[in-house]
Amino acid sequence: MSGKVYLIGAGPGDPGLLTLRGKEILERADVVVYDRLVSPAILGMCNAKAKMVDVGKMPQHHKVKQSEINKLLVQFAGEYPAGIVARLKGGDPFVFGRGGEEALELVAAGVEFEVVPGITSAISVPAYAGIPVSHRGIATSFHIITGHERDVIASEQGERGNLSLDFETLAHCPGTLIFLMGIANMDFIAKRLMECGKDPKTPLAFIEKGTTPHQRTVMATLETAGKTIVRENVTAPAITIMGGVVELGKSLAWKKNLPLSGKRLVVTRAAKQASGITARLTALGAEVIETPMIETRTLECSSNFADLANFDILAFTSTNGVESFFSQLFAAGYDVRVLAGKKIASVGKITEKKLLEYGIRCDYVPEDHTGKGLGKLLASLDVDDARVLLLQGNLADDTLLRLLPRATRWVVYETLPVSELPEWKREAVASADAVVFASTSAVENFVKVMPQSTEGATEPRISFCIGSMTKSAACRCGFETVTSDETTMDSLVKKIVEYYSR
Ligand code: SAH
Repeated sequence: MSGKVYLIGAGPGDPGLLTLRGKEILERADVVVYDRLVSPAILGMCNAKAKMVDVGKMPQHHKVKQSEINKLLVQFAGEYPAGIVARLKGGDPFVFGRGGEEALELVAAGVEFEVVPGITSAISVPAYAGIPVSHRGIATSFHIITGHERDVIASEQGERGNLSLDFETLAHCPGTLIFLMGIANMDFIAKRLMECGKDPKTPLAFIEKGTTPHQRTVMATLETAGKTIVRENVTAPAITIMGGVVELGKSLAWKKNLPLSGKRLVVTRAAKQASGITARLTALGAEVIETPMIETRTLECSSNFADLANFDILAFTSTNGVESFFSQLFAAGYDVRVLAGKKIASVGKITEKKLLEYGIRCDYVPEDHTGKGLGKLLASLDVDDARVLLLQGNLADDTLLRLLPRATRWVVYETLPVSELPEWKREAVASADAVVFASTSAVENFVKVMPQSTEGATEPRISFCIGSMTKSAACRCGFETVTSDETTMDSLVKKIVEYYSR
């Protein structure tokens, strides 16, 4: 019995370009073996309990050899019988991704596998630069070629055969030429193509870090290719595209440079509160790494469920409370019928909506959506001895209990500071430009979970803070601080944009 291996294409960078099938498998994976080019946002979609294995460390670090990766996949399939091993690769696994080699090894070892194609950078990166790889009247074919060192050296030495580029044929090919890898060899490739007769004026574009917030397009021609790479410092990962279609990029470049393009920001709010600010920063062009500093854990209260009969009103003050209560109720073998005849109260609209997901309509929601409002509303009810059960988290304050002295409280979940970040997350955070803090505790916990860099300070060094207390905490911890004028997310987002447009 062995697990199943999925060779999954992660797409070119933009997390929105991962396939639905790929996401579904990552959410269930037991092990994720991933490459260097896979974005942190996609790693963040993986099952939080999965073992995360980085086999594509940065160039200066040790990189796991292909033969070792092949062996690892077989090994993990053995270690997780009936489990899911996700092999996550940039772009498409079978387009210069060595997915075929991995699949052959799995076949040889008798391990079951499935291929989940990805969107290859060869086509999508030009698309994000406004360059269609084929176009009526301009290019009737396109060719995806490796510019990798080994192949080029082979052809430089005059070798022929599968591994060398056939410059003669390429030079006379009327279609669009797309080179993956090999920016370092592009000067040589361009010269050879011209020697073999390709027009030196052929338009050409280098597209660097395509589909990511750092995307950059540099235009040149075949004869200026080498010089342009040096002058503009074009760096990997980048693709080179040659042919008439490149000209279309001048009118079709649709991806706007936004105020926060190219910035990587860490948002430390709890996952549920983070989505609003994440969406706003992303819309402004930033790459956001959500790194909540607290996590919630459902608490055991199933032994109490038989006592539900003793209550007339159930009051919820958070969506966490709703989710924790029902997950335990169901796990204990009950269903919503135990709530028949009871009145349900919610502190506000969001909790009310959450209850509706469980098929429950609220009887009481205060106008002002506060605990105080809810307490007053329940206290004013015309039922003298209504027995109220409060379903809350461990950090809920005593407002409700004070207003409803005879109510009972069950603590259904607790909120804890995050004690550790997975390695991939620490690396992504350390490479960020800045971190966003909305509370003192978030600052203090962040410094605990992020190890100090060699200079003795936590990376990143810049912090955007809401509120003066948060700012003081960040200052104490050695951050450069920028504080919002008002204590709202809107005001903070405005400040972040101002800071980067200085
Ligand atoms: N399987 C991948 C290609 C792997 S080879 C795919 O289908 O896309 C790695 C090369 O792909 C890089 O050297 C670069 O040329 C190209 N590449 C991958 N992602 C890229 C990106 N976001 N922007 C530009 N080029 C990219």
